[in-house]
Amino acid sequence: MPPGTVLDGMDSEPIDYGDLDRGRDCNYWNWDPTLRFEAERVYPDDEFAWAEDVLSSYGATVGHEIADNADTVDRHSPQLHTYDRDGERRNKVEYHLAQFDSERQTYEDARLTHDAFHAPPGREEPVGLLHPLTMQALLCYADVGLTCAASMTTGAAVVLDKFDDGSLSASLDGLTSADYEDHLEGAMFLTEHQGGSDVGAVEVRAEPQSDDTYRLHGEKWFCSNIDAQGALVLARTPDAPEGTEGLSLFLVPRERPDGSLNDAVFRRLKDKLGTLSVPTGEIEYEGATGYLVGEEERGFRYMTEMLNYERVTNATGAVGVMGRALLEAKVHAANREAFGGTIQEYPLLRRDLSRLTVDYEAATAFAFEAAKWYDRRERAWPDDGGQAYKLMRLLVPIAKYRTAELAVEMASEAMEVLGGNGYVDGFVTERLLRDAQVLPIWEGASNILSLDVLRALDRADAHEALLPYVTRRLDGVEHDLLSDAAETVRGRFEELQSALGTLAMEDDDYAQYHAKRLADLLFDVVSATLLLVEGQSEIEAGDARKALVARRFVATRFEDDEAYGVTAGTAPGNEFFDVLARYGSVAPEELAATLEA
Ligand SMILES: Cc1cc2nc3c(=O)[nH]c(=O)nc-3n(C[C@H](O)[C@H](O)[C@H](O)COP(=O)(O)OP(=O)(O)OC[C@H]3O[C@@H](n4cnc5c(N)ncnc54)[C@H](O)[C@@H]3O)c2cc1C
Repeated sequence: MPPGTVLDGMDSEPIDYGDLDRGRDCNYWNWDPTLRFEAERVYPDDEFAWAEDVLSSYGATVGHEIADNADTVDRHSPQLHTYDRDGERRNKVEYHLAQFDSERQTYEDARLTHDAFHAPPGREEPVGLLHPLTMQALLCYADVGLTCAASMTTGAAVVLDKFDDGSLSASLDGLTSADYEDHLEGAMFLTEHQGGSDVGAVEVRAEPQSDDTYRLHGEKWFCSNIDAQGALVLARTPDAPEGTEGLSLFLVPRERPDGSLNDAVFRRLKDKLGTLSVPTGEIEYEGATGYLVGEEERGFRYMTEMLNYERVTNATGAVGVMGRALLEAKVHAANREAFGGTIQEYPLLRRDLSRLTVDYEAATAFAFEAAKWYDRRERAWPDDGGQAYKLMRLLVPIAKYRTAELAVEMASEAMEVLGGNGYVDGFVTERLLRDAQVLPIWEGASNILSLDVLRALDRADAHEALLPYVTRRLDGVEHDLLSDAAETVRGRFEELQSALGTLAMEDDDYAQYHAKRLADLLFDVVSATLLLVEGQSEIEAGDARKALVARRFVATRFEDDEAYGVTAGTAPGNEFFDVLARYGSVAPEELAATLEA
């Protein structure tokens, strides 16, 4: 039986991480009970029943071929040839064959960018966007760069699907094709030298032509997937107003439909710290042909739809990075011997791995909750989505910000668990940390996301949806094992509400100063609430493991521990190591008796 598999009504045995030599050559879906649990929680039931096999099969592919390919591509990263030997411009990116193999397995075999737009085999309707988001969590176990490319492909398709009048349908077909030979990748080029966070500073110009196309001039400074045929570019038409209101969105392919090279210079690729599998470079447009998406001067609004998808990807992708980091750490801890025993036997490391697991479960719950409301709002389109929109608007920037920071921390701690080897090329934690480090920067840096939380509260009235959302959930948490933790969270939630009241009274500078701490508090309150609800429902099914996770999360986030807990007389991460870090089950009575003892 795969690790952690729980058949209805049966206890699960703790996972033996010593069954693996390292965190690969395995099925990541099977080895991640948290990811499975959260995906099942948020997918509509019929879609999960269909998706489970697809996710399991892709989890195996990522855990074997794609994990191997990712290491190869990291050593042989894409190279740019702006000119050929005769000095002719080529703007060509050369890839290792391993990259094509991963792409084919992802786009054709697993249909990552197809199934949310066209009915997949076994279904009469497409699935929701939760599905590619979950696939991307799995892909991030091995290749964050390819996840970026895959995600921008789906994001570009979302934009064309919503806003194109049909004139770009060939591009939409390409982006969503499950035939690798026809498949196109997407990209999003916003950032310029003078403005990344400040998108309103975009200066690239777009001159309309008599044939309804546009000619683009100017420089884009950060272009990931630089050679994408489905690149969406923000630019300013003549006499357009300043700021984001004056921006229009264009599809600017590397090659025009007749196969000729578009008028642009791919100047150079960035010499990056990580995510080497996706080529990020600089482009100088020199009259490149662009095709308007939708209407002029509505480009920023359209791009916001893509950004939303990319930010949720960043969160579910961070889950994959954390999942891999934890798996590597646990496998190593189960195998490595020091001082006469495996290092996972020692209380201090047990505490570390238990705490990391609890943090991972909170982060995964939050990321998938954000993904759920994002997906619900997309399903409601073109209706605004009401409560789903408000919750999506609030939870997505928080999820992006917090999970990205946690992924960096967790990749760093996992590296340390591997000791000296963890710091060395060839042991994947070194690459994981390099890759993770971009998650808090791209798709909006952490400060920018925190300021976006203020906007969600101020302009989208997100608090109106948040208050009943949290209250109703906490009211349903009744079990004795959870009631004290629920009370603690209720107290923090009241503090949160009064904090919102304070921010409403104070000026903008005050609100900006406190934005990040507010986002932290929102993350902790909502994550705790989700874990408590999960704990309650799992107790009803006979297992108190999630309740223990919820209790630990609340304790580490919200409780004042005298002398940092040293005088508490308990060592929960040690006692419950098999339950917390190894996913063993525990009966509610047994947990209650142990806690009382
Ligand atoms: C590997 C990689 C790939 C990328 N790929 C793409 C891509 O494909 N397409 C694309 O368009 N961009 C891409 N980017 C660019 C990325 O999105 C930007 O770098 C990012 O949005 C930050 O913009 P910036 O670099 O201009 O920094 P700035 O906007 O100058 O920000 C610098 C710092 O200041 C902080 N800051 C800015 N304003 C405020 C404020 N008002 N209050 C508080 N703090 C503030 C930010 O949080 C940040 O920490 C990529 C970046 C990297 C590293």
